[in-house]
Amino acid sequence: MINESKEALGLIEKKLKELRDEVPPRNFNHKKPAEVEINQFWFENKTIDRIMVVLRATGCSHYKLKQGCSMCAHYNATTETPISAEDYITQWKNVVNGSEIEKKTDFDINNYPVLCLYNLGSFLNPEEVPIKAMEEIFASINSLPGIKKTIIESRAEYVNPEVLEKIRKVNNGLIEVGIGLESINDDVRELCHHKNMPDLAVFLKAIKTLHQYDFKALTYVNQKPSFLTEKESIDDAIETTIFAFDNGTDAVSIEPTSLQANSLTDYLYRIGMYRVPWLWSVIEVVRGITEKVGSNLDLRIGGYFEEEILSGSQGIASGSERNELFPYTTSGNCAKCNNRIIDAIKRYNKTYDSNILFDEKPCESCFSIWKSTLTVNDSRSIPKRIIDSLGGIK
Ligand code: SF4
Ligand SMILES: [Zn+2]
Repeated sequence: MINESKEALGLIEKKLKELRDEVPPRNFNHKKPAEVEINQFWFENKTIDRIMVVLRATGCSHYKLKQGCSMCAHYNATTETPISAEDYITQWKNVVNGSEIEKKTDFDINNYPVLCLYNLGSFLNPEEVPIKAMEEIFASINSLPGIKKTIIESRAEYVNPEVLEKIRKVNNGLIEVGIGLESINDDVRELCHHKNMPDLAVFLKAIKTLHQYDFKALTYVNQKPSFLTEKESIDDAIETTIFAFDNGTDAVSIEPTSLQANSLTDYLYRIGMYRVPWLWSVIEVVRGITEKVGSNLDLRIGGYFEEEILSGSQGIASGSERNELFPYTTSGNCAKCNNRIIDAIKRYNKTYDSNILFDEKPCESCFSIWKSTLTVNDSRSIPKRIIDSLGGIK
């Protein structure tokens, strides 16, 4: 069994390496953020506009070490040479002063009470975002009266007192750190997601450390990695979310898998070995969680927000035909009901009213097909599934 796991891991890393090697050149402008968008979000009991700034970045350490997670393709949008502290600071300043905002002439960042500030990796890893940039940017955020909450992301191992102390010295505001847990099942997390977090203690310690410094913890739970059946992926997302809340996370974002070039899930989809989760399954996950722990939770569904792109890689920027940042497909049902259910999920995200999801009527074209997928069983172990899928592929 141990040998099977090793073999499966080796196959995943080999395939990921091939896929990453196919990414086109990553010579992005170091002074320009990758994306700025506004999306609607639930905050302090009302729907507000939040701003999401994706900095052009050096990128996640996990890519350098082991080719990154199976479902993630942030790598495609990172740079071949590191982004310096000055570059990060310039990018941030040019968002604040509006000079990097292509679509809005009356832009004022203070109109957006929630700021998501992403760096395609771990904001708390000084190897990715130098301490000088971290400090200057957080000091700048502290001086902006309109921003009530900042959300950043980090792998669990970079959440440590030294870095949090440095941020707290310059910023006393509400800061939430999103951490990818993905699954509490070791095989699912380490093989299917390829998370490289073999010990859950790292995640639990990160939550405690965040709370010690008065930060909030947000946990990401990816729904339906490769190699799981539809039913397994629903159960896994429910169990993982409940575990995260039981262990002190303040919020969970369910992340239904979407497809982006050069990820393993995308590759498997293209060869007919993977389907993104059904939207009915996403609703089922919310139902399972609320049935077990109630509906008074900060529970989000990642990737489904009413959004307006202000600048960046989705084709607005002049000369930018390449979408290196966003998925080309999200989870889905059928052509007949996709828009209706996606709209319901977006309304859920801006109200947290789960009845919006539960009230959606079954679709006559696809609901019974989805139901039948829930009966599909796979008796093989997860390593065996991976070996069977990837072992014969040259
Ligand atoms: S999901 Fe997060 S941890 Fe995994 S490769 Fe992407 S950025 Fe890194
Ligand atoms: Zn349908």
